Formats: sequence, C-alpha cells, structure tokens
Amino acid sequence: MNLPNSQNAGLYIHIPFCVRKCHYCDFYSQTELSLKPRFLNALIAEMELVSAEGLSFDTLYIGGGTPSVYECNAIGQIVAAISQNFDCLPDSEITIEVNPASASLEQLKGYREAGINRINIGVQSFNQKNLDFLGRIHTTAEACKVIIEAHQAGFKNIGLDMIYGLPGHSAQAWQRDLEQATQYRPAHIACYMLTYEKGTPLNSDLKSGRVQPLSDDHVRVLFEATIELLEDNGYFQYEISNFARKEKDPATNISRHNLKYWTRAPYIGLGPSAHSFIKSQRYWNQLSVDRYLVAIESGRPPIAEREVLTAEQEMIETIYLGLRMTQGIDLTGFRQKFGIDFAEIFKDLIADLEKKEYIKVSATHAALTWQGKAFLDSIAAMFVEADVPVAGAKSYTAFHNNVPD
Ligand code: SF4
Repeated sequence: MNLPNSQNAGLYIHIPFCVRKCHYCDFYSQTELSLKPRFLNALIAEMELVSAEGLSFDTLYIGGGTPSVYECNAIGQIVAAISQNFDCLPDSEITIEVNPASASLEQLKGYREAGINRINIGVQSFNQKNLDFLGRIHTTAEACKVIIEAHQAGFKNIGLDMIYGLPGHSAQAWQRDLEQATQYRPAHIACYMLTYEKGTPLNSDLKSGRVQPLSDDHVRVLFEATIELLEDNGYFQYEISNFARKEKDPATNISRHNLKYWTRAPYIGLGPSAHSFIKSQRYWNQLSVDRYLVAIESGRPPIAEREVLTAEQEMIETIYLGLRMTQGIDLTGFRQKFGIDFAEIFKDLIADLEKKEYIKVSATHAALTWQGKAFLDSIAAMFVEADVPVAGAKSYTAFHNNVPD
C-alpha cells in the first residue's frame, strides 16, 4: 500500500496556551491565558511576515498547546487570515486539536463553520485513574461526550490520540481503552507510548523513584497488542504510532498533514516554538510567547535559529522517517535525491535483517516487518552507523529495544 506522495506544503499553527500543564508534556505552552488576544493579533501579523513564495498548501494543522482555548470566532479569524496570506488549495485538510475539557457542541459547530474539516481529540485514556496520573484536566465522561458531539457537529474526519505504557499498564487495561476508542469508529487513532521527557514532573517522579517505568519487553507486548487489536477492528497501521480506519481508498483517513513530516514535504510553522522546513533548510521560532510577541510587534520575523541540513543529515532523516512508515523508504526517491542505491549500499545489513525477518525490500520500498517495527529505533541506528556516508545518528522514536541476535 503506497500513500500519496504530495509535495504540496503544510501549514502548522502553534497555539501556546493550556489551562494546566499535563505531567508528561514537554510541548511549549503556558497557562497565563490573559495573552490570548495579543497573541491572536501577533499570529495574524506573522502570516504577513512569512515568505511562502512558490509554495501551495493543502494542509493546515492548528495544534499546540490547546487550540480549543480559543472560541470559534478566533479560530475563524485564523483560518480566514491564512487563506488571505497563503496559496491554499481547494480540498485542503484543515485540522484542529481539541481538549475534551474545553470544547462544547456549540464551539465544535462553530469550528466547522469556520472551515475546519478534521478534528483531533486528545482523549489519551478512557480510564479516569490514568487521566489523573497523566495530569489531564478532562474526565472520562468529557472525553466520551466530545467524541459524540464532534459527530453531532458534522465532523466525518475525527482522530483520537491515546497514550499507553503508563507505569503498571497491563495489556488487558490497554486493550479495554483501545476497544472503547474503536467503538466510536473514528477515522483515525494515534497511539503514543508514554515517554519521560526531561524537565517534566513525570521525569522528576522517575528520577526520584516515585514511578517505575515498564520494561522494554512489556512495552513491546503493548505495542504488538495495539497493532493486533486495531487491525482486527478495521484499522491499518500506516506509521509506527498512527492507524487509519480502512476504506476502499487507503488514503482516505490518514493524517495528510503529519504525512508531510514523514515524507519530508515542505512545511511552515507559525507561533512560538513552531518549526519550518523548506528546501533542506530548517528554522524555528522563538520558544517563549514573550519573545515571540516582542519580535512580531517590532515588525521582525520571530525566528530563533536556522540550520541547513547536509546531504548526510538529509539521508539520515530519510532513513529514520521512511522506516517509521509501513510503506517504508521510497527507494526511487532515495536514488533520485542522493544518487545512491539504498539496497546496494546497505546490502550486508539488509541481508542480516532479512534473515531475522525484520525488513522486507521490494523493487520500490524497504520496509520494516511487523516484528521489525518493535525495534525501529535500534534498526534505524544500524543503518546510520553502517559503514556508508551517513553519520550523526539521532533518535526519533520511543523504542530503544536492542535487536535480539
Ligand atoms: S493539553 Fe496537550 S499541550 Fe497542553 S500540557 Fe497537556 S499534553 Fe501538553
């Protein structure tokens, strides 16, 4: 199954506010909401400062933070300003992330009227104890209610985000959570493994021994249970953490916006901490709302830093990101971009991984097998460390399991 390889650009908007920080979260956001009106003006002003010449956009993703802290008329202003300032193609995918605690039916209807056609709900779990452990502000009842209301508001393209791998998380408890998620028949389910990010309260609890992480083997059991349960319920895994409800056309329910990151299509990010990637160049905005506002209000783009990727860095990214996807690395694209035959330069490593049934290489793609996906990070690192000109390994995934001999 090959996914559409659109090289149109994506636009990401980072809303830097949350009602309260969740214990595990290291995304940039602040809980001082009084800056909301000033930030909205700055965001719209940033659109006028951005150079997006030659780019046509077919996805817009309003994420954060918690975009649903804004009422629908503010979201409507953002969407309208985007269509005025950027070349947006018809039938664009327009997504908003929603926190179950901060979205009413009226608000959801307003988002639809504003042009939003995809909604991604941060459910994380249907178990109240898990929500409390994660420090989420919403309850199980609110999670269920917002999914039903998203349907009532007319959204066909609904995604749910779920988290697994909490301390003591049993396979049975996780399966119950997933079963409940599938009962709502959302178009998309993303399942992320809990990670202990530096600087978060959860990480402090880990360091002080207040929480015990699951063993790698147990995490692997949960990961494999995820794939099995979701596939049995009519979803297919198209990326290591992402599952789309099966339709005649497999591309129907995938996240077209996230696919841009994995296929290294161009994207522009607006708002504090947002990253942009255009033609081998990556740059990112000031992290703090204050510095972001100062830059914009003085008429300067709020860019903090830029980097131009070397060919080797680009190759590493192509390998890591390609292996995350079920379809794998596009070998024709790899040859066109780097002038190197992937299957030829890595033939010894591929032969070894094929023997262990961790990878499959066809004429067009190199993809991890079902078993290989559980060792994604280690296998990707093997390609980076192999004796070919790709140096500077960087970890992109939650899996650190060593590949068994
Ligand atoms: S609501 Fe989302 S962005 Fe905000 S703190 Fe929680 S996980 Fe992070």
